[in-house]
Amino acid sequence: GGLRPYFRTEPPKVIRQADRFELNIAPFDFEQLAQNVCLLLGPALKDKPVELLIDYDQFLPTEFLGDAGRLRQILLNLMGNAVKFTEEGTVMLRIVGLSDASDSSCQLHETVEDTGIGISPEKIEHIFGEFNQIEDESNRKYEGTGLGLAITRKLIESMDGEIWLDSMPGHGSCFGFRITLPCAEVTEDNKPEIPDGLSDILVFTENSLEASLLERQLSLLGISAQFVDTIDACKTALEGSEFQVLLTRPLDAEAKASLPSGSNSNIVQLTFAEQFGQQADLPKPFTRSGLLEALSRVSERASEEFQPRTVTVLAAEDNKTNQLVLTKMLNKLDIELTLVENGEEAVEAFKTSVPDVVFLDISMPVMDGLEAASLIRGLEGGDTVPLIAMTAHALAGDEERIRAGGFDHYMTKPLKKAQLATHIEAAARRLADPPELKLKQNRG
Ligand code: ADP
Repeated sequence: GGLRPYFRTEPPKVIRQADRFELNIAPFDFEQLAQNVCLLLGPALKDKPVELLIDYDQFLPTEFLGDAGRLRQILLNLMGNAVKFTEEGTVMLRIVGLSDASDSSCQLHETVEDTGIGISPEKIEHIFGEFNQIEDESNRKYEGTGLGLAITRKLIESMDGEIWLDSMPGHGSCFGFRITLPCAEVTEDNKPEIPDGLSDILVFTENSLEASLLERQLSLLGISAQFVDTIDACKTALEGSEFQVLLTRPLDAEAKASLPSGSNSNIVQLTFAEQFGQQADLPKPFTRSGLLEALSRVSERASEEFQPRTVTVLAAEDNKTNQLVLTKMLNKLDIELTLVENGEEAVEAFKTSVPDVVFLDISMPVMDGLEAASLIRGLEGGDTVPLIAMTAHALAGDEERIRAGGFDHYMTKPLKKAQLATHIEAAARRLADPPELKLKQNRG
């Protein structure tokens, strides 16, 4: 890539002009504005392998007083050009600044860097003029009016700012501008809370700029992250250690399937969209607050799943007396019982809501316990629910038949309360000690 270090103390070239635009001053959120501009450019990126990134200085306030409409126009022009003249690579908007405590204003420094065709130094003056375009081989296919940069320059100068350009033909361009804006009052309480308990994050992105941006943003949140740039490295990392969150670009089915299955289900996957319009937990390019909010959602999701709830029990028994016995024994324990009359009803109930433990009578009308067990096992993905058979009489060979049918345990009638309690307690222990940040399986 042709991107250079972003901070320059002195702009190389400043071009000025006298006439000004009238400005409409109001409070606005600069970071939000930057993200909106990127969203507007989405369609132009649809068929190009070009990534948009925003690097908004972590320590910079976001609320300023200024003409948001004009500023949007400036960014849209510069970023629109960058996208237009870049066939592949990255377009990055960087916004950094220095606050001046004495007058609560902020010196803002914006750059739009691309990895496109670039502009030769002798053309720089020319392109800021009205109706001026570059007429040469590399430019011919791009349409335009040649007015965008002239207007952009005038807008920036109307804000008492300066614009400059730094470019290497064939390697990309970097347009920069400076403006000073008063900080608008920031209300402390709309700052998002840093999610606690989130520490081990694995980030998978092939884009090194994106990786360094995320690394900075996460480390400022006190979150240690490991970065990988290939799916193989991602796999190795997941096999090697425990992560709470996998922050990843969208994975196709094949990539998903290739991840180690154990860690796959224990990890909360936070996807950031590659292209606009894609479903994602974290739409790109993301803002600091967007990242924070997404992580907060993850930690909320996680803590919800940590809450041990009441054990849910599904029992199938056709005999009325046995039903009564079972209900009485189970109701003494702190459980939620679904009682059905035969195997078919048990399978239906299982489909509606997966319980923590299932008790099936073996001989029942309509569908017996063995058939119900095999259907239930067929419905399950990776996770299996303990299946416990209830038999009237333990005959020789029954145990093998029952175990082969998919059951984990069996009990002979008359049922003993202590035995039932043992199975309920085992289910409760499973609930209380889930793998960390376990993602709910699709138990539909
Ligand atoms: P246009 O409507 O033609 O894009 P502009 O004033 O916005 O008018 O740009 C003037 C010329 O400057 C463009 O035609 C192009 O030749 C050059 N230019 C502007 N931005 C870039 C860029 N990011 N990379 C390469 N060339 C650029």
